[in-house]
Amino acid sequence: MLDPANPNTFANSPLDRAGHRRRDAAWLEQACARDDARVALFHKLNPFVFDEDGVRTPGWLGGHARVLCGPGASVLFLGVDQSGAPHFAAEVPDGADMDEFPLAAMGAFEDMRAAAMLLPAPDAAILGCAKAILDWHRRHAFCAQCGASTQRVEGGWKRLCASCGAEHFPRVDPVVIMLATFGDKCLLGRQARFPRGMYSALAGFVEPGESIEEAVARETLEEAGLTVRAVRYHSTQPWPFPSSLMIGCLAEVTGDRETIDHEELESARWFTREEARLLVTGKHGEAFAPPPFAIAHQLLKTWARA
Ligand SMILES: [Zn+2]
Repeated sequence: MLDPANPNTFANSPLDRAGHRRRDAAWLEQACARDDARVALFHKLNPFVFDEDGVRTPGWLGGHARVLCGPGASVLFLGVDQSGAPHFAAEVPDGADMDEFPLAAMGAFEDMRAAAMLLPAPDAAILGCAKAILDWHRRHAFCAQCGASTQRVEGGWKRLCASCGAEHFPRVDPVVIMLATFGDKCLLGRQARFPRGMYSALAGFVEPGESIEEAVARETLEEAGLTVRAVRYHSTQPWPFPSSLMIGCLAEVTGDRETIDHEELESARWFTREEARLLVTGKHGEAFAPPPFAIAHQLLKTWARA
């Protein structure tokens, strides 16, 4: 579904997932052989991107591209576009000799983050979804219930254990990411691994038994020692590293005396609304925000404009 109000990279895929086709193996096989079929290749979870004199475009190939994935390679069915063209993703084996890769002159396998910043947003959304599912398959070769090996079924949207019959579905891990605000200022934190000068919103995984509001309050208290009194939902971002859903919120806190958890953060700093405007436009001088590709940037931008 297209939601013009959601500004996030990896959201707003233009495809109809056509879930009713997933169980129809004959339709999937026929669809992949159609002239209008489009296949995205991945190698070690990096999507193939065309490169023409430095101009990068999505590496959509025809169904014949499957031959590059080895005999019997399965494809992941991603859905159909507005014209009805079926879209798939397939993986070139990890051990393939990439020096001899037949399409090397046309482009390269690009890191997913870099690709998302280079490619049109609709393609980034489709490829991000594919990456998350291909990654899930790699990590779920065995049944969590009985330990036997599992098989990929239903166009790549399920794994089935032939031994105990358990069905396994792709996982999504919810993460809350919140901009803590107090009056006319907001708190941003720095992790030691961040590039020098970069500050971002606080974040953490939602735990079992927690609402989004509870997770926002717990993480804000744990990481910054601040008490949340109101939570406002902003937007969500599918985040395929490996398979999270970032739930962006604005969190109003009751005071501005933070106590940092130094296991999580190196430091934290309050920024005024005027400074927030400078952070998102890259004109602050001392500090900068994550790029527009990150939901933290969008949260800050929304609050800075308010
Ligand atoms: Zn099993």
